[in-house]
Amino acid sequence: NILVVGSYVVDLMSRTPHMPSPGETVLGGPFHMGPGGKGGNQAVAAARLGSRVTMLTKVGHDVFGDEALKNFTTENIDTTHVTRHPDEVTGTALIAVDDQRENMIVVAPGACGKITKEDIVKAEQSFKDADIVLVQLETSMEAVETTINLANKLGKPIILNPAPYQDVSQDLLEKIDYITPNETEASLLSGVKVMDEASAREASIKLKEQGVHTVLITLGKTGCFVYDGTSEGGIVPAFSVNVVDTTGAGDAFNGAFATFIANGLSLQEAVTRANAVAALAVTKVGTAPAMPFAEEVEKFLAE
Ligand code: ADP
Repeated sequence: NILVVGSYVVDLMSRTPHMPSPGETVLGGPFHMGPGGKGGNQAVAAARLGSRVTMLTKVGHDVFGDEALKNFTTENIDTTHVTRHPDEVTGTALIAVDDQRENMIVVAPGACGKITKEDIVKAEQSFKDADIVLVQLETSMEAVETTINLANKLGKPIILNPAPYQDVSQDLLEKIDYITPNETEASLLSGVKVMDEASAREASIKLKEQGVHTVLITLGKTGCFVYDGTSEGGIVPAFSVNVVDTTGAGDAFNGAFATFIANGLSLQEAVTRANAVAALAVTKVGTAPAMPFAEEVEKFLAE
């Protein structure tokens, strides 16, 4: 059982021949709409691998909120703690992608930015039922803090994906079992510019000194640097694939890593498999819809 506490937004994406300048309107297209948000994406990644997933988030009383609940149900995700804000709209991400594949994104968190302490405390039973709790930084810090404190009180392992970057207090870092920053987030959290194995090791040591138990720095197509203090740590290499769209790679990695750790795999094995899941996700367009199912992962690993 995995409990995911995090964001849900609708991705509203249009291609554009070039990015509009301030005041300019560009005729773009095609347009694509789909479920997004780091919390929702990670929940889908875990559920498609066969985990029993409960999602805690908040949406609006609008069509996007209805769609969110339908989507979660289709993905076999428990929606007991997907609540609806009385007057906030469902979160959206307005995404423009140009012909050079650069993107510009405006996230309006809406309802999922209004998850309160009470919403988390009400879900105590789901915390008790969870083998692992997975949380990101795309909601309010109040929601993140309450989640980490409650999971810690109940002795539940916590994975913090510190994305998008926000300052995390020492008190919270000490309660975290696994932290999964990418290069940018690891650099901001540790003060060490991460770009290769040596700098990833240096950053990991800093984070470990701040109290985190195990550090996993994702390094894109290079793989993931793993450090738990029992050895000097090292890179678990990524899989080489035909890359189509790397958005959601981190989300695939996190949902998968949570699944494999909850299933009792070793750290090394869980990271290897999470790299495989993320590799499959980058071979497809989109975030949640690009997450692979357990059978695809087994087939890929057997090849
Ligand atoms: P984020 O999407 O959060 O920036 P990363 O880019 O570090 O995260 O990617 C997360 C994981 O996804 C990596 O550790 C790796 O396993 C996988 N991954 C990302 N990009 C590629 C790629 N081009 N080829 C293969 N695997 C990739």
